[in-house]
Amino acid sequence: MRYQSTREQLLKAVIKANEVDLIRLSAGNISTRTEDGLVAITASGVKYRTMTTADISIVDLDGNLIEGLKPSSETPMHTVIYRNLPDVGSIYHTHSTFAITFAMLGDEIPMANLELLVCGAPIPVAAWACPATTKAGEVTVGIFKDRPGLKVILLRKHGLVAIGADLDHAFDMAFNAEVGFQSYYQALVLGKPEPVTAEQFAEVKAVYHL
Ligand SMILES: [Zn+2]
Repeated sequence: MRYQSTREQLLKAVIKANEVDLIRLSAGNISTRTEDGLVAITASGVKYRTMTTADISIVDLDGNLIEGLKPSSETPMHTVIYRNLPDVGSIYHTHSTFAITFAMLGDEIPMANLELLVCGAPIPVAAWACPATTKAGEVTVGIFKDRPGLKVILLRKHGLVAIGADLDHAFDMAFNAEVGFQSYYQALVLGKPEPVTAEQFAEVKAVYHL
């Protein structure tokens, strides 16, 4: 089987994301570029708990199957992002609970904590697009292009897309976003969260060289 090392890296990413509930059952999907310009992505309808390297599909940038099982139904969303954003090496698309919660409300999430700050907050909610369509990716591309520091966008009534230079980076963005959303949600339940001020943001940026 070709692309063994990419398959192993992607499977590891799947197991890690499943363990922390970023993805579950067969909802959500993860992809990464291969060394030769193709895309490795989780197969369609395979439960993450039982997934093996044989369940990783290899597609080209137009989503045509090159090797393996039928790719995730949401492949068009991933490939349109790779076609338009050459610096993106990996994508996590999650149906994580707090991402879905805020994606249902539709309002941009402010820079309320450091976890959201590293994701490039405020986090926008993209226009509605049906899952498994190219449009589901297109609605994020323009926003990502306009805001180079932004790594996470909520998909309206659906979930989130996190981009990164590689699988570890994209995982960190998806995980930080979920922790940031959960904390923000809890703060909203308890009271009125204070946003990070422009001055505080500048201070953090200087310390962390963001
Ligand atoms: Zn989805």
